[in-house]
Amino acid sequence: IVVLGIETSCDDTAAAVVRSDGEILSQVISSQADLLVKYGGVAPKMAEEAHSQVIDQVVQEALDKAYMTEKDLTAVAVSIGPGLSLCLRVGVQKARRIAGGFNLPIIGIHHMEAHALVARLIEKDLQFPFMALLISGGHNLLILARDLGQYIQLGTTIDDAIGEAYDKSAKWLGLDLSRSGGPAIEELAREGNAKSVSFSIPMRQHKDCNFSYAGLKTQVRLAIESKKIDAKIPISSASYEDRLSRADIAASFQRIAVLHLEERCERAIQWALKMEPSIKHLVVSGGVASNQYVRARLDTVVKKNGLQLVCPPPRLCTDNGNHVIFRRGGL
Ligand code: ATP
Ligand code: FE
Repeated sequence: IVVLGIETSCDDTAAAVVRSDGEILSQVISSQADLLVKYGGVAPKMAEEAHSQVIDQVVQEALDKAYMTEKDLTAVAVSIGPGLSLCLRVGVQKARRIAGGFNLPIIGIHHMEAHALVARLIEKDLQFPFMALLISGGHNLLILARDLGQYIQLGTTIDDAIGEAYDKSAKWLGLDLSRSGGPAIEELAREGNAKSVSFSIPMRQHKDCNFSYAGLKTQVRLAIESKKIDAKIPISSASYEDRLSRADIAASFQRIAVLHLEERCERAIQWALKMEPSIKHLVVSGGVASNQYVRARLDTVVKKNGLQLVCPPPRLCTDNGNHVIFRRGGL
């Protein structure tokens, strides 16, 4: 079985060809990062146009790299949400054109389910039930995956996701946003003292597994203001002291942002094990999961509670075409 996957839910146009044994035959991503930097976020109409411009080329390239034509495909899979509806439509229309033209079935895929299940491509031991933490710019979800299509949501964000907090903090700190805020903060944080600025850990008084990052975001903004950091001066031209004080904020923010994840994961694991004692893995996926500090800290928590951490490589953590096609049981 060979499936073409198409993903256009947000700002990346992605396509991949995957075989049912889990082999990724090709993967092509066209990013709108330059648009994002220019306009400071995703503007749906503009993103839709950008998708429309490149979708044919991205799909063609994915087929070429896999040495396939449409005739070799068994099915076409496509993200159907959550995401920007204007953008999703570009992918769905493309999938329809191919499926219609070559008489193939279309498989609609839930984008977040894909983020959780893509781990099965790399970890062959991963069996249901398992837990998953999805951390990206728009989502902060803790789920218990009992079986294909059977998910229990253990926690979600009540306001912002952690990636949004990384992105805004990076912007206010005047960091280079050409990739995205997350990697810029991760890098700068290595130069700072993570205990120099005291931020409070979100939602300590709520004994559940939900998340909140809006308050921490505000705390970061206030710290930046009180240290008189001017985001208009890019970090590359900041003085030594200025750079150090930005690094201290980045490191302190990251420590607390991740501590919040650690606390909620620990509680969720303890809950979930009562329901499903056979759980062995916690999958961490989404753009923020490519952060080394995040991985290391979560690894400690997960091991302490008797589980194993499964972290797909960065190219599978973020939005991509093959995370829409791994849903093997769905075929
Ligand atoms: P969705 O929530 O719909 O999946 P998204 O576009 O945010 O949307 P991703 O591509 O999975 O999805 O994730 C991007 C996010 O991940 C951004 O907020 C980015 O800052 C963050 N990110 C990427 N790399 C890192 C990193 N090294 N450290 C922290 N955050 C990171
Ligand atoms: Fe995503």
